[in-house]
Amino acid sequence: MTNDIKINLQKIRQQITESCTACGRSASDVMLLAVSKTKPIEAIEAAYSAGQIHFGENYLQEAIAKINQLGQLPLHWHFIGRIQSNKTRAIAENFDWVHTVASYKHAHRLNDQRPPALAELNICIQVNISKDPDKSGVVAEDTLQLARQISQLPRLKLRGLMTIPEATSDQHKQRQFFRQLADLQDKINSNGFSLDTLSMGMSGDMKIAIEEGSTIVRIGTAIFGKRDMNP
Ligand SMILES: *Cc1c(COP(=O)(O)O)cnc(C)c1O
Repeated sequence: MTNDIKINLQKIRQQITESCTACGRSASDVMLLAVSKTKPIEAIEAAYSAGQIHFGENYLQEAIAKINQLGQLPLHWHFIGRIQSNKTRAIAENFDWVHTVASYKHAHRLNDQRPPALAELNICIQVNISKDPDKSGVVAEDTLQLARQISQLPRLKLRGLMTIPEATSDQHKQRQFFRQLADLQDKINSNGFSLDTLSMGMSGDMKIAIEEGSTIVRIGTAIFGKRDMNP
């Protein structure tokens, strides 16, 4: 397993570099987030020993167990799961990033609960760009207003936008959704913001996401292999 993870990471990094070069971007502008949900501690340790330090988790209980067990390693943890109001304190206390903020209520709670000893919590607003009824996130039309509200919260650092577009194998559609998110960020920035993060692209659509301006790709399967449950 350890060896597979190392090889997969090398491959993905290579693909990121190639995609960036092909569209005139610098590979250092794209962060690889390793999505380790449902995978064991040993898989994370293997990735770390291959140089990976940013990890994404969806399920809070599972994540906190891992964060505690790996406390001696200098890892950065990103929460990418659905936020529940009664879990915001644990998120605020244990993570460096939250990609899935879609309401002022959750943002406000994370702000109030962020421990003073920790740095500001990095935030992405999750946008339901494809208006998929099964996906959470704010609609594009409401994003600027939420950005304005979040920017008033001193313990949060609003970094950018995130999306999980509806599953489709139609590459033209995939590209459209990513482009819409990038355009929305441009629009928000033209209203006085300087957002620097577009969290978009997963194992199946990473290349297109990079071509459309992604700065964080969230990759699970292509690094750690298929998940048994909780896709
Ligand atoms: C699981 C998950 C990923 C990783 O998906 P893969 O297709 O396995 O790369 C990325 N982002 C989010 C929000 C996820 O829940």
